[in-house]
Amino acid sequence: MADTGALPLVILSEQFAKLPGIGMKTAQRLAYAVMSMSDEDARKFSDAILSVKKDVGYCKVCCNLTENDICPICDDLNRDKSLICVVESPKDVSAFERTNEYKGTYHVLHGLISPINGIGPDDIRIKELLSRVDGNTSEIIMATNPTVEGEATAMYTAKLLKPLGVRVTRLAFGIPVGGHLEFADEVTLFKALENRNDM
Ligand SMILES: [Zn+2]
Repeated sequence: MADTGALPLVILSEQFAKLPGIGMKTAQRLAYAVMSMSDEDARKFSDAILSVKKDVGYCKVCCNLTENDICPICDDLNRDKSLICVVESPKDVSAFERTNEYKGTYHVLHGLISPINGIGPDDIRIKELLSRVDGNTSEIIMATNPTVEGEATAMYTAKLLKPLGVRVTRLAFGIPVGGHLEFADEVTLFKALENRNDM
């Protein structure tokens, strides 16, 4: 970026480079793309970024991202509140919703336990999950990805849940080990859900 000499372009490129999967070269290309936008498009772009931070928060029940206090899924009277599907990220909620088969609720952990990366149980939304479990909870489905961190998080959480007297199950993985839920097709994901096993 030093070649342009225009500091605002350098600064914008550095901001883009903070995004996942964006290297410096791509960041630079994106910065030039912004530069060629109309003033109005550039403003819409920056407004959209600010609005995400200002208007989107965490559902008070399931911790999924929402514009309201309670997300539409937790708010839906037709969803089975006794069933909680525990996932790593909001993207996984979308994946399960695409199956059109799951009628329970979710709990979004916003991460996985990963000692190597300095992420412990208190850094993700496990406490919030435990505080949700009551006499009306019939089953908790641990639906974290079949990766090392996903398995470790499922095991750790199951150990905390079992003393509460609730059934804890794990997805039956037709999903390849090391794979990610968000990339699984609807049928694979539905089968994984249907054939879940007790932990
Ligand atoms: Zn919710």
